[in-house]
Amino acid sequence: GEHLLEVDDLHVEFHTDEGVAQAINGVNFSLDEGETLAILGESGSGKSVTAQAIMGILDMPPAVIPSGRILYKGQDLLTMDADERRKGRGPNVSMIFQDALSALNPVFPVGWQIGEMLRMHRGMNRSDAYDEAVRLMERVNIPGAKQRVKAYPHQFSGGMRQRIMIAMAIALNPKVLIADEPTTALDVTVQAQIMELLQNLQDEHNMGMILITHDLGVVADVADRIAVMYAGRIVERADVEDIYAKPGHPYTKGLLESIPRLDQKGQKLSAIGGLPPNLTRIPPGCAFHPRCYLAQDICRVERPELLDVGPNRQSACHFSKEVLDD
Ligand code: SF4
Ligand code: MG
Repeated sequence: GEHLLEVDDLHVEFHTDEGVAQAINGVNFSLDEGETLAILGESGSGKSVTAQAIMGILDMPPAVIPSGRILYKGQDLLTMDADERRKGRGPNVSMIFQDALSALNPVFPVGWQIGEMLRMHRGMNRSDAYDEAVRLMERVNIPGAKQRVKAYPHQFSGGMRQRIMIAMAIALNPKVLIADEPTTALDVTVQAQIMELLQNLQDEHNMGMILITHDLGVVADVADRIAVMYAGRIVERADVEDIYAKPGHPYTKGLLESIPRLDQKGQKLSAIGGLPPNLTRIPPGCAFHPRCYLAQDICRVERPELLDVGPNRQSACHFSKEVLDD
Protein backbone atom coordinates (compact mmCIF):
# COMPACT_ATOMS: atom_id res chain seq x y z
CA GLY A 1 0.00 0.00 0.00
CA GLU A 2 0.91 3.67 -0.13
CA HIS A 3 3.18 4.96 2.59
CA LEU A 4 2.83 8.25 4.37
CA LEU A 5 6.36 9.12 3.29
CA GLU A 6 8.63 7.30 0.91
CA VAL A 7 12.21 8.23 0.07
CA ASP A 8 13.25 6.53 -3.14
CA ASP A 9 16.85 6.33 -4.38
CA LEU A 10 17.69 9.80 -3.08
CA HIS A 11 21.01 11.37 -4.08
CA VAL A 12 22.29 14.72 -2.81
CA GLU A 13 25.56 16.38 -3.84
CA PHE A 14 27.25 19.50 -2.55
CA HIS A 15 29.44 21.31 -5.03
CA THR A 16 32.32 22.67 -2.98
CA ASP A 17 35.74 24.16 -3.70
CA GLU A 18 37.26 20.80 -2.81
CA GLY A 19 35.08 18.96 -5.31
CA VAL A 20 31.71 17.25 -5.29
CA ALA A 21 30.71 15.93 -1.87
CA GLN A 22 28.43 12.90 -2.23
CA ALA A 23 26.31 13.59 0.84
CA ILE A 24 23.53 11.09 0.01
CA ASN A 25 24.18 8.14 -2.29
CA GLY A 26 20.95 6.28 -2.97
CA VAL A 27 18.87 6.24 0.18
CA ASN A 28 15.54 4.37 0.40
CA PHE A 29 13.09 4.16 3.26
CA SER A 30 9.44 4.54 4.06
CA LEU A 31 7.47 5.83 7.01
CA ASP A 32 3.89 5.04 7.99
CA GLU A 33 1.42 6.84 10.23
CA GLY A 34 2.17 6.34 13.90
CA GLU A 35 5.58 4.85 13.11
CA THR A 36 8.90 6.08 14.49
CA LEU A 37 11.98 5.62 12.36
CA ALA A 38 15.31 6.45 13.93
CA ILE A 39 18.04 7.50 11.52
CA LEU A 40 21.31 6.87 13.21
CA GLY A 41 24.83 7.84 12.31
CA GLU A 42 27.86 9.98 13.05
CA SER A 43 28.02 13.55 11.85
CA GLY A 44 28.57 13.61 8.10
CA SER A 45 26.67 10.34 7.60
CA GLY A 46 23.91 12.15 5.72
CA LYS A 47 21.17 11.90 8.33
CA SER A 48 20.58 15.65 8.65
CA VAL A 49 20.90 16.18 4.90
CA THR A 50 18.19 13.55 4.39
CA ALA A 51 15.93 15.50 6.75
CA GLN A 52 16.68 18.78 5.00
CA ALA A 53 15.88 17.23 1.63
CA ILE A 54 12.49 16.08 2.95
CA MET A 55 11.82 19.53 4.38
CA GLY A 56 12.82 21.23 1.13
CA ILE A 57 15.41 23.35 2.91
CA LEU A 58 18.38 22.23 0.80
CA ASP A 59 17.84 25.18 -1.47
CA MET A 60 21.37 26.55 -1.14
CA PRO A 61 22.93 26.92 -4.61
CA PRO A 62 25.70 24.33 -4.10
CA ALA A 63 23.24 21.53 -3.19
CA VAL A 64 22.10 19.38 -6.13
CA ILE A 65 19.65 16.48 -6.13
CA PRO A 66 20.68 14.56 -9.27
CA SER A 67 18.11 11.80 -8.74
CA GLY A 68 15.55 10.38 -6.38
CA ARG A 69 12.00 10.97 -5.23
CA ILE A 70 10.48 11.98 -1.91
CA LEU A 71 6.85 10.91 -1.96
CA TYR A 72 4.39 12.32 0.55
CA LYS A 73 1.16 10.33 0.21
CA GLY A 74 2.32 9.45 -3.28
CA GLN A 75 3.14 13.01 -4.35
CA ASP A 76 6.76 13.86 -5.17
CA LEU A 77 7.88 16.75 -3.00
CA LEU A 78 10.98 17.29 -5.14
CA THR A 79 9.04 18.16 -8.28
CA MET A 80 6.38 20.27 -6.57
CA ASP A 81 6.77 23.97 -7.21
CA ALA A 82 7.64 26.26 -4.34
CA ASP A 83 4.11 27.57 -3.98
CA GLU A 84 2.59 24.10 -3.87
CA ARG A 85 5.25 23.12 -1.37
CA ARG A 86 4.38 25.94 0.95
CA LYS A 87 0.72 25.02 0.82
CA GLY A 88 1.05 21.25 0.82
CA ARG A 89 4.28 20.40 2.51
CA GLY A 90 4.55 23.20 5.04
CA PRO A 91 1.55 22.20 7.08
CA ASN A 92 2.16 18.44 6.76
CA VAL A 93 5.85 17.97 7.57
CA SER A 94 7.48 19.80 10.47
CA MET A 95 10.90 19.69 11.98
CA ILE A 96 12.46 20.41 15.33
CA PHE A 97 16.14 21.11 15.69
CA GLN A 98 18.81 20.52 18.28
CA ASP A 99 19.36 24.15 19.03
CA ALA A 100 16.10 25.84 20.02
CA LEU A 101 17.85 29.09 20.88
CA SER A 102 19.01 29.70 17.33
CA ALA A 103 15.79 28.35 15.80
CA LEU A 104 13.68 30.85 17.75
CA ASN A 105 13.77 34.57 17.05
CA PRO A 106 15.30 36.36 20.08
CA VAL A 107 13.45 39.64 19.59
CA PHE A 108 9.86 38.38 19.66
CA PRO A 109 7.88 36.87 22.55
CA VAL A 110 7.47 33.09 22.15
CA GLY A 111 3.68 33.29 22.01
CA TRP A 112 3.90 35.81 19.20
CA GLN A 113 6.16 33.42 17.25
CA ILE A 114 3.77 30.49 17.66
CA GLY A 115 0.85 32.76 16.80
CA GLU A 116 2.60 34.12 13.72
CA MET A 117 2.65 30.63 12.17
CA LEU A 118 -1.06 30.25 12.80
CA ARG A 119 -1.80 33.66 11.31
CA MET A 120 0.33 32.94 8.24
CA HIS A 121 -0.71 29.36 7.52
CA ARG A 122 -4.16 29.15 9.05
CA GLY A 123 -5.32 32.71 8.51
CA MET A 124 -6.21 33.03 12.20
CA ASN A 125 -6.87 36.46 13.62
CA ARG A 126 -4.58 37.89 16.29
CA SER A 127 -6.72 36.99 19.26
CA ASP A 128 -7.47 33.39 18.17
CA ALA A 129 -3.79 32.84 17.37
CA TYR A 130 -2.88 34.12 20.81
CA ASP A 131 -5.34 31.76 22.53
CA GLU A 132 -4.10 28.87 20.46
CA ALA A 133 -0.48 29.70 21.35
CA VAL A 134 -1.39 29.50 25.05
CA ARG A 135 -3.17 26.19 24.49
CA LEU A 136 -0.15 24.77 22.63
CA MET A 137 2.23 25.93 25.37
CA GLU A 138 0.02 24.22 27.93
CA ARG A 139 -0.05 21.09 25.80
CA VAL A 140 3.75 20.87 25.82
CA ASN A 141 3.65 21.29 29.62
CA ILE A 142 5.06 24.77 30.04
CA PRO A 143 4.02 25.87 33.54
CA GLY A 144 2.24 29.23 33.71
CA ALA A 145 1.70 29.33 29.95
CA LYS A 146 -0.84 32.17 30.22
CA GLN A 147 1.79 34.47 31.71
CA ARG A 148 4.85 33.14 29.91
CA VAL A 149 3.34 33.45 26.46
CA LYS A 150 4.72 37.02 26.51
CA ALA A 151 8.24 36.05 27.57
CA TYR A 152 11.24 36.00 25.24
CA PRO A 153 13.25 32.88 24.30
CA HIS A 154 16.23 33.78 26.54
CA GLN A 155 13.91 33.84 29.58
CA PHE A 156 13.37 30.07 29.32
CA SER A 157 15.60 27.14 30.23
CA GLY A 158 16.97 24.94 27.43
CA GLY A 159 14.36 22.26 28.07
CA MET A 160 11.51 24.79 28.09
CA ARG A 161 12.78 26.34 24.84
CA GLN A 162 12.78 22.89 23.29
CA ARG A 163 9.13 22.53 24.38
CA ILE A 164 8.33 25.86 22.72
CA MET A 165 9.90 24.65 19.49
CA ILE A 166 7.82 21.48 19.74
CA ALA A 167 4.70 23.61 20.25
CA MET A 168 5.55 25.49 17.03
CA ALA A 169 6.24 22.25 15.21
CA ILE A 170 2.84 20.74 16.08
CA ALA A 171 0.88 23.99 15.66
CA LEU A 172 -0.14 23.11 12.10
CA ASN A 173 -1.01 19.46 12.85
CA PRO A 174 1.78 17.86 10.84
CA LYS A 175 1.48 14.25 9.65
CA VAL A 176 5.25 13.84 9.70
CA LEU A 177 7.46 15.20 12.46
CA ILE A 178 11.23 15.19 11.99
CA ALA A 179 13.30 15.65 15.13
CA ASP A 180 17.00 16.28 14.48
CA GLU A 181 18.98 15.55 17.65
CA PRO A 182 16.13 17.02 19.73
CA THR A 183 17.68 16.29 23.11
CA THR A 184 21.43 16.37 22.49
CA ALA A 185 21.96 19.73 24.21
CA LEU A 186 19.90 18.79 27.30
CA ASP A 187 20.70 16.95 30.51
CA VAL A 188 19.57 13.37 30.90
CA THR A 189 16.42 14.00 32.99
CA VAL A 190 15.17 16.68 30.63
CA GLN A 191 16.03 14.44 27.64
CA ALA A 192 13.73 11.75 28.96
CA GLN A 193 10.89 14.24 29.52
CA ILE A 194 11.20 15.64 26.01
CA MET A 195 11.24 12.16 24.47
CA GLU A 196 8.14 11.26 26.46
CA LEU A 197 6.39 14.41 25.30
CA LEU A 198 7.24 13.64 21.67
CA GLN A 199 5.88 10.13 22.03
CA ASN A 200 2.64 11.33 23.62
CA LEU A 201 2.12 13.89 20.87
CA GLN A 202 2.82 11.27 18.26
CA ASP A 203 0.20 8.95 19.78
CA GLU A 204 -2.39 11.72 19.94
CA HIS A 205 -1.96 12.74 16.32
CA ASN A 206 -0.82 9.41 14.86
CA MET A 207 2.14 11.20 13.28
CA GLY A 208 4.96 9.46 11.52
CA MET A 209 8.16 10.49 13.28
CA ILE A 210 11.74 10.53 12.07
CA LEU A 211 14.19 10.77 14.90
CA ILE A 212 17.70 11.72 13.85
CA THR A 213 20.45 10.98 16.31
CA HIS A 214 24.03 9.85 16.76
CA ASP A 215 23.08 8.20 20.04
CA LEU A 216 21.68 4.68 19.91
CA GLY A 217 20.82 4.97 23.59
CA VAL A 218 18.21 7.68 22.95
CA VAL A 219 16.18 5.63 20.49
CA ALA A 220 15.93 2.31 22.32
CA ASP A 221 12.56 2.95 23.98
CA VAL A 222 11.16 5.19 21.29
CA ALA A 223 11.83 3.90 17.79
CA ASP A 224 10.05 1.13 15.93
CA ARG A 225 12.68 0.85 13.22
CA ILE A 226 16.25 1.99 12.83
CA ALA A 227 18.11 2.96 9.68
CA VAL A 228 21.86 3.24 10.24
CA MET A 229 23.64 5.60 7.85
CA TYR A 230 27.28 5.76 6.88
CA ALA A 231 28.85 8.00 4.22
CA GLY A 232 25.49 8.85 2.68
CA ARG A 233 24.07 5.33 2.51
CA ILE A 234 21.89 3.18 4.71
CA VAL A 235 24.10 0.32 5.87
CA GLU A 236 21.58 -1.46 8.09
CA ARG A 237 17.83 -1.29 8.54
CA ALA A 238 15.80 -3.34 11.00
CA ASP A 239 13.27 -3.36 13.82
CA VAL A 240 14.74 -1.81 16.93
CA GLU A 241 14.57 -5.02 19.00
CA ASP A 242 16.44 -6.95 16.32
CA ILE A 243 19.25 -4.40 16.20
CA TYR A 244 19.66 -4.49 19.96
CA ALA A 245 19.46 -8.26 20.10
CA LYS A 246 22.06 -8.61 17.35
CA PRO A 247 23.52 -5.97 15.07
CA GLY A 248 23.82 -7.13 11.47
CA HIS A 249 26.56 -4.76 10.35
CA PRO A 250 30.04 -4.10 11.80
CA TYR A 251 29.33 -0.36 11.98
CA THR A 252 26.10 -0.85 13.95
CA LYS A 253 27.98 -3.21 16.21
CA GLY A 254 30.53 -0.48 16.89
CA LEU A 255 27.79 2.06 17.62
CA LEU A 256 26.10 -0.36 20.04
CA GLU A 257 29.36 -0.89 21.87
CA SER A 258 29.73 2.88 22.21
CA ILE A 259 26.58 3.29 24.33
CA PRO A 260 27.50 4.53 27.81
CA ARG A 261 26.74 1.81 30.31
CA LEU A 262 25.21 2.94 33.59
CA ASP A 263 26.39 -0.27 35.22
CA GLN A 264 29.98 0.40 34.22
CA LYS A 265 30.42 3.98 35.34
CA GLY A 266 33.62 5.65 34.29
CA GLN A 267 34.41 2.90 31.83
CA LYS A 268 35.80 4.30 28.59
CA LEU A 269 33.44 3.70 25.73
CA SER A 270 34.74 1.52 22.96
CA ALA A 271 34.18 4.02 20.19
CA ILE A 272 34.86 3.01 16.61
CA GLY A 273 38.42 3.91 15.67
CA GLY A 274 39.11 6.39 12.89
CA LEU A 275 36.88 9.00 11.32
CA PRO A 276 34.05 9.02 8.79
CA PRO A 277 35.37 9.69 5.26
CA ASN A 278 35.66 13.00 3.50
CA LEU A 279 32.58 12.94 1.28
CA THR A 280 34.51 14.26 -1.72
CA ARG A 281 36.70 11.13 -1.51
CA ILE A 282 34.54 8.25 -0.34
CA PRO A 283 36.64 5.06 -0.20
CA PRO A 284 35.93 2.58 -3.02
CA GLY A 285 34.15 -0.67 -2.27
CA CYS A 286 32.60 -0.54 1.19
CA ALA A 287 33.02 3.03 2.45
CA PHE A 288 33.46 1.67 5.97
CA HIS A 289 36.41 -0.60 5.12
CA PRO A 290 39.21 1.63 6.51
CA ARG A 291 37.56 1.39 9.95
CA CYS A 292 36.18 -2.13 9.85
CA TYR A 293 37.61 -4.94 11.99
CA LEU A 294 36.27 -7.50 9.51
CA ALA A 295 37.44 -5.96 6.24
CA GLN A 296 38.75 -8.33 3.55
CA ASP A 297 40.10 -7.71 0.03
CA ILE A 298 36.63 -7.78 -1.54
CA CYS A 299 35.55 -4.92 0.76
CA ARG A 300 38.10 -2.60 -0.83
CA VAL A 301 36.76 -3.11 -4.37
CA GLU A 302 33.12 -4.17 -4.33
CA ARG A 303 30.41 -2.04 -2.82
CA PRO A 304 28.00 -4.13 -0.73
CA GLU A 305 24.31 -3.56 -1.53
CA LEU A 306 21.60 -3.32 1.10
CA LEU A 307 20.17 -6.88 1.01
CA ASP A 308 17.68 -8.88 3.06
CA VAL A 309 19.40 -10.70 5.90
CA GLY A 310 16.30 -11.66 7.89
CA PRO A 311 12.62 -10.88 8.22
CA ASN A 312 12.08 -7.16 7.75
CA ARG A 313 15.81 -6.61 7.99
CA GLN A 314 18.57 -5.52 5.60
CA SER A 315 22.31 -5.05 5.82
CA ALA A 316 24.93 -3.77 3.38
CA CYS A 317 27.96 -5.90 4.25
CA HIS A 318 29.71 -8.70 2.39
CA PHE A 319 30.00 -10.52 5.69
CA SER A 320 26.67 -9.74 7.34
CA LYS A 321 26.05 -13.45 7.85
CA GLU A 322 29.26 -13.75 9.86
CA VAL A 323 28.31 -10.68 11.90
CA LEU A 324 24.86 -12.09 12.65
CA ASP A 325 26.25 -15.55 13.50
CA ASP A 326 29.03 -14.11 15.64
FE1 SF4 B 1 33.34 -4.39 6.95
FE2 SF4 B 1 33.58 -5.47 4.56
FE3 SF4 B 1 31.26 -5.51 5.78
FE4 SF4 B 1 32.22 -3.23 4.85
S1 SF4 B 1 31.60 -5.01 3.65
S2 SF4 B 1 31.30 -3.54 6.80
S3 SF4 B 1 34.42 -3.51 5.23
S4 SF4 B 1 33.11 -6.54 6.43
MG1 MG C 1 23.11 16.56 12.38
